[in-house]
Amino acid sequence: MKYLPRISSGEVQTAAYIEKAHRLLQRRLPRALWIGSPADPRVALSFDDGPAPRDTEALLTVLQRHGVAATFFNIGERVAAHPALARAVFTAGHQLGIHGYRHLAFPLISVPGLHADLQRAQNALADATGQNPDHFCYVRPPFGWFTPSTLRHLDTWGFRPVMWTVVPPHWLQSQQRTYSDIRREMCDSAILVLHEGLPGPPVAHLTDEILSRLEDRGFTFTSIDRMWRTVFDAQPLESPLL
Ligand SMILES: [Zn+2]
Repeated sequence: MKYLPRISSGEVQTAAYIEKAHRLLQRRLPRALWIGSPADPRVALSFDDGPAPRDTEALLTVLQRHGVAATFFNIGERVAAHPALARAVFTAGHQLGIHGYRHLAFPLISVPGLHADLQRAQNALADATGQNPDHFCYVRPPFGWFTPSTLRHLDTWGFRPVMWTVVPPHWLQSQQRTYSDIRREMCDSAILVLHEGLPGPPVAHLTDEILSRLEDRGFTFTSIDRMWRTVFDAQPLESPLL
């Protein structure tokens, strides 16, 4: 069991506001994952924008040391440029998702163009890992930019949109600021997003420290896939997944 961190009344109000906003968004935008089920306090760790030669292998080492499985929302053209890195992520037991083929804002692409972009990203991951393209159905929109229409199309095409609960801008600020952002905003069932391939403190180093701090606070981890099924599928899973 995880003990509750001490938080101020201002933080309680902020957390309550975020929860209310999420409930409203979830009602308006069905079938997009923002946070896990209240029934499962485990949190999910995710990385956007990879694979990145500077970061991916170092991240895999850190995650293995902590025994944590994460989800990597990869950019298709970077997968095509570095297939061995995407394959290493998959082989290490992490989940791979799609972050667009070219990291374009989804609402700026035509509907057929978006479908083609996502299928191209699926094919890049399939080529890198030897899996069926349909295996890669989780999508995080680049820049977090989407419209209700975008989400409806993703749903129609069989994709599962995954948003976030906590996104520290760690490439723009000090490590200490990032740690305090996470200290303040992390809550049960949260989805945390970090980024590969950006300037600033190396994300593997940040992740190492962030995981140590979250583990000290009693947080444990689950996958985006399990979180999705706990939130949206009626039947609870019998066996725990990573
Ligand atoms: Zn991105």
